[in-house]
Amino acid sequence: MLYALGRFQRDAGEPLRYTEIENELAHLLRDYGPNRRTSPAYPFHHLVNDGVWEVRTHLGTGSPGTGVRALRESGAAGRLAPGLRAALADDPGLLGRLAHLLLDAHFPPSLHAEIAANAGLDLEAPDGAWTVPGIPRPRRRDAEMRERVLVAYEYRCAFCGYDGAIGRAPVGLEAAHVKWWAFRGPDEVSNALCLCSLHHKLFDKGVLGLDPARRVTVSREFTGQSLSARTQVIALAGQPVLGPQPGSAPVAAEHIGWHTSQVFRGEPRAVVAN
Ligand SMILES: [Zn+2]
Repeated sequence: MLYALGRFQRDAGEPLRYTEIENELAHLLRDYGPNRRTSPAYPFHHLVNDGVWEVRTHLGTGSPGTGVRALRESGAAGRLAPGLRAALADDPGLLGRLAHLLLDAHFPPSLHAEIAANAGLDLEAPDGAWTVPGIPRPRRRDAEMRERVLVAYEYRCAFCGYDGAIGRAPVGLEAAHVKWWAFRGPDEVSNALCLCSLHHKLFDKGVLGLDPARRVTVSREFTGQSLSARTQVIALAGQPVLGPQPGSAPVAAEHIGWHTSQVFRGEPRAVVAN
């Protein structure tokens, strides 16, 4: 859907041939889609059921299904549904609001800019007041959450110990949700880690994870030959999480389980005994 909005922004609703967007869509699904392998044919076909997308083939209106071959050979082309196209044309701010809503609902904030860029979306327009009639304003993030998490972990990255500051203000340190906020992960210390910017990004991308004993796991799919990739990522495998300080709740097993099954990429690297 984000990709369809990005294309609409660029070419105002020209039909998109399945064969032309298949590769790009496959890459987006691989990088940001579900853990299991997903064919680009699924969203291309199934979005029709959501009433926001229409598919035509050489034979007329209607999608031929999720078969890749049928989609290719029938000349299937899709575009946003007429009502949505008209609404987007009427209200210049609508596209940005929809995109932010989808990003908020499905991805952690650390990935929003990257996903928007890869979906070809320009979200430069400021997101003003919430003005979607009939839809309640989305749940807001707990503003105090970051501070509570950083204090619990004593202002250092739970994976590498990074504790940079400018004066007394921490810099490059973030509160990361384990079970994503977008999936109703609670704003609680037991669902959070204090991580440096690099490790936060890698945790949200499923390169890094936690095992049930709260040791760091590193995906076998991650590669890197440089000294920094080896020392800052690969060497973390099997290391215990640093913190939280006594009296603060460690990450709860249920949230680790969610991250492992929904975010972590493939299998963890074997830990090399020293
Ligand atoms: Zn770190």
